[in-house]
Amino acid sequence: MPKPLRVAGEVDGWCTRCRLVLNHRIVSMKSGKPHQVECLTCRSQHLWRPGAPGEKRAGAGNGGDEKASTSAAKGAPRAARVSGATKHVQLWEKATLGRAVGEFKAYSVGANFREGDLLRHKKFGDGLVTRVIDASKVEVLFRDEVRTLAQGMT
Ligand SMILES: [Zn+2]
Repeated sequence: MPKPLRVAGEVDGWCTRCRLVLNHRIVSMKSGKPHQVECLTCRSQHLWRPGAPGEKRAGAGNGGDEKASTSAAKGAPRAARVSGATKHVQLWEKATLGRAVGEFKAYSVGANFREGDLLRHKKFGDGLVTRVIDASKVEVLFRDEVRTLAQGMT
């Protein structure tokens, strides 16, 4: 059975200084509710609060949701972006470096190549057949660029 609230009466409320729900003396009323109150424990005057701030969240004082809005990683590191040219050379090196001289077929227009063949061109150097276009043309990866060479000419 709650006592009627009135100025100079007492009411339980949150003390902002003691940080506890304590008995307060009502200093002023507003709209039928305590407005300003005085803590009977520490004698501080403050606005009346019925309970602890954030009481609805479990565990007051534990702060709760401290989600740091991470707006970081958008401009992520542009690690090791390989330019087209570099990639090309890497492919070429992977295909040709360390291969035995005997694995390279001397290029001539009369020869026939298959995909994956290594060839040696008098002018362009070592190359890898990356694609057989048709009976008379192959695509060859050389160190500097991909070239289309004739093959199977009689
Ligand atoms: Zn107090």
